[in-house]
Amino acid sequence: MKAAAVRAANAPSDWRQAMLGCRRCPALVASRSRVVPGAGSIPAAVVFVGLAPGRLGGDRTGVPFSGDRSGNLLRSMIAQAGISSFFITNLVRCNPRDERGRNRDPTRAEIEHCRSHLAAELAMVAPSVIVCLGRVAWRELAGAGANFDPLKPTPLSVGGRLIYPMYHPAYVNRGACPPHVYAMQFRRLRRLLDRISKRRPALSGETGRRPRCGAGESASAD
Ligand code: SF4
Repeated sequence: MKAAAVRAANAPSDWRQAMLGCRRCPALVASRSRVVPGAGSIPAAVVFVGLAPGRLGGDRTGVPFSGDRSGNLLRSMIAQAGISSFFITNLVRCNPRDERGRNRDPTRAEIEHCRSHLAAELAMVAPSVIVCLGRVAWRELAGAGANFDPLKPTPLSVGGRLIYPMYHPAYVNRGACPPHVYAMQFRRLRRLLDRISKRRPALSGETGRRPRCGAGESASAD
């Protein structure tokens, strides 16, 4: 009975429902159009963690990294690399805006408030690799002392998972990294996932467990 209750509490619909009603960050409750939980395959071989839903992206569509330039670039890179088992989320699930209505970075307190939601998603998705998109996600998941170098990535082992650094797609869209170099980074990630899949099939997300999607959301690129 107890085990059944635990399974029920972990069902994707309950997991999403708890996030959708969250009001821990007063400023973000005021600025957001909606709460944007992570979306994708469950389980998945890899989870991509960005910063926050964008004003023109997740805040508008309800799906992280969709409907804006960053989302289009990220999903196109994932597809080109042939990565099919993936989940996409952010450090925080609500769009932070400044006094002029522009995207801003979430505060450390807002990131802390949302950390348990991220932990719940990671527990549900059980990836073998967590990709940090950008320096802030890397700092929060790999630790402040870890060197952020996506061009020569050194995955860190944290809690039985590999934490992997990559540029945020917005950084690439700003011209700070050429798209063909970014594409090479995704191919390198794909090779890492393939190696892990051969060594540790139980953690690859491509086991006998059938991948499913978060409620009402597609795992395919959009
Ligand atoms: S950012 Fe996270 S913790 Fe803050 S209100 Fe949104 S869902 Fe809740």
